[in-house]
Amino acid sequence: MKVPLLDLQKQSAELESHLTEAFRRVLQSGQFIGGPEVERFEQAVARLLGVSHAIGVSSGTDAILLALMALDIGPGDEVICPSFTFFATAGCVARVGATPVFADSCPVCFNIDVADARRRVTGRTAAIIPVHLFGQCADMDGVMALASEHGLAVIEDAAQAIGATYKGRMAGSTGDCGTFSFYPSKNLSAFGEAGLLVSNDDQLAAAARLLRNHGAESRYFHKKVGGNFRLDPLQAALLSVKLDHLESYSRRRECNAKYYSSQLGGIEGLTPPVAHPQNQHTWNQYTLRIRSRRDAFRDFLASQDIGCEIYYPLPLHLQECFSALEKTHLPVSERLARECVSIPIYPELTREQMDIVIGATVDFFRRE
Ligand SMILES: *Cc1c(COP(=O)(O)O)cnc(C)c1O
Repeated sequence: MKVPLLDLQKQSAELESHLTEAFRRVLQSGQFIGGPEVERFEQAVARLLGVSHAIGVSSGTDAILLALMALDIGPGDEVICPSFTFFATAGCVARVGATPVFADSCPVCFNIDVADARRRVTGRTAAIIPVHLFGQCADMDGVMALASEHGLAVIEDAAQAIGATYKGRMAGSTGDCGTFSFYPSKNLSAFGEAGLLVSNDDQLAAAARLLRNHGAESRYFHKKVGGNFRLDPLQAALLSVKLDHLESYSRRRECNAKYYSSQLGGIEGLTPPVAHPQNQHTWNQYTLRIRSRRDAFRDFLASQDIGCEIYYPLPLHLQECFSALEKTHLPVSERLARECVSIPIYPELTREQMDIVIGATVDFFRRE
């Protein structure tokens, strides 16, 4: 039996009649930009996250870009972010003309090492972007303390962590703003590109709303230079259907993670991921660390028709596009890039499928 890394058809099939109904509603409304579907989704997700403003946008990447623009971060500014993350976190910093400054990560939770971030603060540091990688929150008390000591803005990149909590606080709700992605591989997934920016700061939210729409409040009169960062009503309508199921998806992911961890502990050379007790982990990825021969393990799983992926094979401080930045050595990020591999964890995964993954894993290490 094949075990894919993700099975979106299965999730869509369970909701097909509701999704079709949402599609028909948008089709018949004739409104394809903005309007009530977008507002309804924004209000529902703001309630879920307990924030005063939720702004639907065109992608998770655009949410980060918009956050940086709304905070007026640009040339001359430095922004600290992890190196072991998806490219968009730092790519957006460079796109606004600011300089990404990479900090190392924690080998256990995979998130930004705040002590290392602290060593990288300079007079030009304007912001810090903690990423809640794989669905688990970063050390937000540490990040907020560092930010308040140095007057830094905090953008939480919660693309992979919708619904996750840190000491009971929702991911994305603690910093100046939080950004989310609804890319198909995320826990709340759209049918194409979509994202979200949230904030409790009225002024910041107003700036982001303006910039989302070319800086214009009334059409053809532009207060600022923004962009087209709007969320489609069709995506909003479809996302609203899935939003009602998000909690059950997260519960099923957690259940799967617990089962894996109960079966994969104690294998020499393999370290299963751990959820810190202060965190509600949402398990966007279940990421193993393989001490040696990670690529051989990946190839072995692939040969057994088991989907897996390496998030991420090259840390951002070593990417070609950032080769002009000041050189730095980030030993943990570099090690994680060599050791990590993510296995299927999606909510619709069956016990039988997990047993196949577990069996193959045990097999591989027995032969080592
Ligand atoms: C997915 C992701 C993004 C970007 O989201 P898109 O919707 O694909 O643009 C940003 N940061 C992280 C950590 C992500 O995982």
